[in-house]
Amino acid sequence: MNTNDFRIESRNLIGGQWVGAADSGAFPVTDPATDRLVAHVPLCGAAETRQAIEAAQAAWPDWRSRTAAERGDLLRALADLMMRDRPRLAHLMTLEQGKPISESRGEIAYAASFLSWAAEEGKRLYGETIPAGHRDKRILILRQSIGVVAAITPWNFPSAMITRKLGPALACGNTFIVKPAEQTPLSAIALGELALEAGLPPGVINIITGDPRAIGAEIFRHDAVRKVSFTGSTEVGKVLMRQAADHVVRLSLELGGHAPFIVFEDADIDAAVAGAMASKFRNTGQTCVCANRFFVHESVYEKFAAGLARAMASLRVGAGFDENAQIGPLIDDDAVAKVQSHVRDALDRGAKVRTGGNLVSVGAGFANRFFSPTLIDGLNADMRIGREETFGPVAPLRAFTSDDEAIALANDSPYGLAAYFYTRDASRLMRVAEALEYGIVGANDGLPSTAQAPFGGVKQSGFGREGGRHVMHEYTSVKYVSWGLGPA
Ligand code: ADP
Repeated sequence: MNTNDFRIESRNLIGGQWVGAADSGAFPVTDPATDRLVAHVPLCGAAETRQAIEAAQAAWPDWRSRTAAERGDLLRALADLMMRDRPRLAHLMTLEQGKPISESRGEIAYAASFLSWAAEEGKRLYGETIPAGHRDKRILILRQSIGVVAAITPWNFPSAMITRKLGPALACGNTFIVKPAEQTPLSAIALGELALEAGLPPGVINIITGDPRAIGAEIFRHDAVRKVSFTGSTEVGKVLMRQAADHVVRLSLELGGHAPFIVFEDADIDAAVAGAMASKFRNTGQTCVCANRFFVHESVYEKFAAGLARAMASLRVGAGFDENAQIGPLIDDDAVAKVQSHVRDALDRGAKVRTGGNLVSVGAGFANRFFSPTLIDGLNADMRIGREETFGPVAPLRAFTSDDEAIALANDSPYGLAAYFYTRDASRLMRVAEALEYGIVGANDGLPSTAQAPFGGVKQSGFGREGGRHVMHEYTSVKYVSWGLGPA
């Protein structure tokens, strides 16, 4: 199939071969901005998943026996090809996901950075020796690959959510299968094409699209899968945890968030507004680290709210291919319904809309999924928006009077992924950073995610870390060798 000026591969990659579903079943991929059909991809289930797992299993012995430098060279080659094809990959991403094209270009570079980071970090999988308790013994610690790693990824970052699992998994000597989200399989498939071009051996990367339940069930049924890394909702994460029990499969879970954003009275308000804009409106508010609750000291509330409202008014809402667009369509009609119901519920419970609050038309031929950047005053914890992730461009604000109150409000959530706060007081900065029950804290920073640092949550936001050197522990196991020397 062709779209604009390039061909789209729309089959699955299993053992180095491009294949369809065994029964030729397929499902459509559509452009969320227009509802136009983009491609059909295979509707696979248990049988194809089994083949993908077995292809990965067969590729493991050779892959794990290569040196870290050999594996790193191939990962870097893949990163370079992503950057070579950045315009094409960004186009494909906007087509299936809807995000503004400038954000898609940014995501391709961000996605490639996880591969090049892991390519280097794989060279530093150091073991240990430990002083033994007996004269004639030695203790060695080896760090080894686990086996077949399966990734299940979401639609909001179609490329980066795959590479930040793929890079470290492969760098550590594991082989890989991925089931991308049904909304955004094409970015995953494009990555598979580049992996073959880069020279990754058949079976090291396998891509399977189709029925999430059937694929997920087979991943957990098959003995060869030793690790599952999932990014998605807390609800599905809990289902996977239950399934993982049967074969005691290791998990990394990056689940939902409900990020607080605190502005203290001594904050640089311009910087806080800029940080709030970056955190709240990236990907049209559809990220698990998007600020979702704003707590602002009463003495600077009006200044911050007015500054934020002004900045929001300048955001351009438009289809992703509009070069100036900053807010794109929401992913689907369910997402629109959720955002609308959060706003309606907040208004019913006494909140007031300062700006936005409705769907806007961006022209003929476009779907009704463009929600205006919305600022709400009067947030409280009874509101759905005060308790649940909104996943849309809505910023609800509430005033506070003391640090303890702000910290208590921020921590009053079953989630614990990202939190943000702004202050110029170094002592307060450290105290608050320590008190927040979150895995990621942006202290005077609205965009903390990066390949060098460990990303992940606490509480019902999951466990396991992605990025930095910490991720390498997720994809290796520690082996203790007790070495008896025998008589001298
Ligand atoms: P979101 O709300 O962001 O769509 P989901 O948790 O529903 O998040 O989806 C994230 C990923 O999990 C997607 O790839 C989806 O297909 C997959 N998924 C959903 N349900 C299951 C399941 N029962 N087993 C395995 N994967 C699933």
